[in-house]
Amino acid sequence: MRPRKRIILLGATGSIGSSTLRVLREHKDRLELVGVAAHSRHAELAQICHEFAVPQAVLQDEKAYHLAQQSGDFPSSTTVNCGSEALAELATLPEADIVLVAVVGAAGLRPALAAIEAGKDIALANKELLVLGGAHVIEAAKRKGVRLLPTDSEHNAIFQCLQGHPANQLDKLILTASGGQFRDTPSSELQQVTPEMATQHPNWSMGPKITVDSATMANKGLELIEAHWLFGLEPERLEVVIHPQSVVHSFVQFIDGSILAQLSPPSMTFAIQHCLLYPDRAPGVEPTTDFRTAFSLDFKAPDFSKYPCLQLAYDALRSGGAAPAIFNAANEVAVERFLAKEIAYLEIPKLIEHSLSRMQAPQQPSLEQLFQTDTETRALAQSFRF
Ligand code: NAD
Ligand code: MG
Repeated sequence: MRPRKRIILLGATGSIGSSTLRVLREHKDRLELVGVAAHSRHAELAQICHEFAVPQAVLQDEKAYHLAQQSGDFPSSTTVNCGSEALAELATLPEADIVLVAVVGAAGLRPALAAIEAGKDIALANKELLVLGGAHVIEAAKRKGVRLLPTDSEHNAIFQCLQGHPANQLDKLILTASGGQFRDTPSSELQQVTPEMATQHPNWSMGPKITVDSATMANKGLELIEAHWLFGLEPERLEVVIHPQSVVHSFVQFIDGSILAQLSPPSMTFAIQHCLLYPDRAPGVEPTTDFRTAFSLDFKAPDFSKYPCLQLAYDALRSGGAAPAIFNAANEVAVERFLAKEIAYLEIPKLIEHSLSRMQAPQQPSLEQLFQTDTETRALAQSFRF
């Protein structure tokens, strides 16, 4: 029997984290958890360490780390550390085979780069890190010969459809989008959207940031940029189609006009398991699409005037350089400020647009320039008053 694959899970207490734990419970004979990290939910992280006998854990937040020390929640066999450096160090643990990056936001970039430099394969759920540092991540992965396995459902679908097809046969990628929770809400009513309304999704159960991103379609914008880096296509060959049922996870169109798709119910366990067991397959953790029950699949073009974040993402991708980093940082701040009830829902795209127009976007930025652009954009977006 082949040895178990040893996994590090960054973002273990989140939505992707909990879907990953479901996959791990089902495949204990193939997968082993050797490291976990979370931001501040120490009791939950400790519980995970008990259940999976995890030897190494990191809490990003210092206060949470001290609370954990006092409470004695963690098993005595788990070494617990804290802070950003500990997070990057965890991602390089010699005994690990693959690092699943499921922390939210640009905070994922440093640990992902550290893992790649240490020669680890990466399962990539976090999209913001590619939007911020895509050129550097792709270059490092090529140089180190590590696999970047796309865990975001659309990119996982595309990755599966592309297997066995050389790049010169590819015409375009068509990413499906649910259209979010306000798909059928008239634009005139969006002014009244509250954080409570924007954090409920009809198809997917996800963390708060990505759920708001899904409503504004900034999520699909980030995913266009993610697809550009993962599959090397220019924006003209990346399309978006609204598909309310979230069963077709994306399409690949070849130069002869044939289109392939990947289908499964809207649960991240399918993509997560595909990445963790890759290139093997095994029974999934939940039922798949059942064609004995009648259902329909619908598709329509997005209305860019209703979803300005999608247009802004295309514009940022076309501008290149540090523009996607500005888009991402401004969006992260806009979502935080919206959830804190500081700005209105319709001000999210306005804040992104303002940041893109005010910030300098260097072409071919170094990693340091990108981090600087990220920091400066956050300061600008934080201080802007409507
Ligand atoms: P979430 O908010 O539910 O969970 C985030 C996790 O990251 C938590 O465990 C949190 O403790 C941890 N975390 C946050 N900031 C951190 C930091 N600075 N350092 C260390 N840990 C930190 O988010 P989620 O919905 O699971 O999404 C995670 C990532 O996966 C996002 O980038 C998202 O875009 C992407 N993604 C999520 C889904 C989904 O279905 N939830 C689907 C596709 C892609
Ligand atoms: Mg997705």
